[in-house]
Amino acid sequence: MSIEALIKAEALNLGFVLCGFSRADTPPHYGTYLDWIAAGHHAGMGYMARPNGIEARYDPARLLPGCRTVISLATPYPAPADDQKIQQNQGSIAAYALLPDYHQVLKAAVELLAQKIAQRIDQPLKHLVCVDTAPILEKDYAQQAGMGWIARNSCLTSLDYGSWLFLCELLVDLSLKPDKPLTNSDCADCHRCQMACPTKAILPNRSIDARRCLSYLSIEHRGPIPVAFRPLIGQRIFGCDTCQTICPSNHKPKHAAPFFDHAQLLDPHPDLLQSFLLTEAEFKSIYANTPVLRSKYQGFRRNVAIVLGNARLEAARHALLDCAAKEPDAVVGEAAAWALSRY
Ligand code: SF4
Ligand code: SF4
Repeated sequence: MSIEALIKAEALNLGFVLCGFSRADTPPHYGTYLDWIAAGHHAGMGYMARPNGIEARYDPARLLPGCRTVISLATPYPAPADDQKIQQNQGSIAAYALLPDYHQVLKAAVELLAQKIAQRIDQPLKHLVCVDTAPILEKDYAQQAGMGWIARNSCLTSLDYGSWLFLCELLVDLSLKPDKPLTNSDCADCHRCQMACPTKAILPNRSIDARRCLSYLSIEHRGPIPVAFRPLIGQRIFGCDTCQTICPSNHKPKHAAPFFDHAQLLDPHPDLLQSFLLTEAEFKSIYANTPVLRSKYQGFRRNVAIVLGNARLEAARHALLDCAAKEPDAVVGEAAAWALSRY
């Protein structure tokens, strides 16, 4: 068996469902990334525009001197249920955020893969594990490695697994035979995700204008959410799955998520008023070790206040009044006042 086949078999044993190899060359969409930065489409994600990150995305050898191959890996996370019915008093959390933080568990698995490769080749392997931890255009390498295509909604989309995937990479100084990109897959004439995107954040070149994207605005963005987008947030209190749920590539039988225990999934539709009334300690306890913490307590309350304004939930009127009058955080207080103006 070739070393490439052995590595793929080890990756599948560990729980990854896709594994592919590409040369550690400049990724094909590097120019698109530079244009995205130049246009300010990265919004407040300053880390995407740091000079050392820009250089590293050009050449993975900046991350791992002597890097010859990028090994791309993917594993699914549980897709949202097809029959989700959200009540007026409930919010919605994006599917990827319902799990305990995936970084540690995937990092350990990729590290194990590196150890297994070193054993197989019987020599030390210079390597770097990347699980959202290094500046690398990971979708480009996954596409080059034949794992899927970068779809119009900007997600790496697999023929078999759709786009509910976590991606990670193992950079190695080993030369492996690269896989071939897929030739029989693309979005063709479909534009469903663009049409469904509430804020029209999907750009013609398959990148996302983060300044308009509800996922960015509800998770990464600090400060007030632009008023024009607030009604469009609907019931989303953390993230947005719309451009993935609408995609026909995701309308397939659901796959098991090998790394994750479904029993540990958070409630995807928490009660809005209860969420709004959480103390910071309660928020940190309920969402401990999950991506939801990324919005921070203030960002989460800002989001919930806006969704309450959209839901016009009578039971929340008093809590919003109280917040608008006394809340020390100006962004949350203003969101509460806006919500009340919608009643
Ligand atoms: S995540 Fe939501 S807001 Fe962002 S591009 Fe997709 S559909 Fe649009
Ligand atoms: S909804 Fe259609 S256009 Fe959008 S990513 Fe899916 S297949 Fe491509």
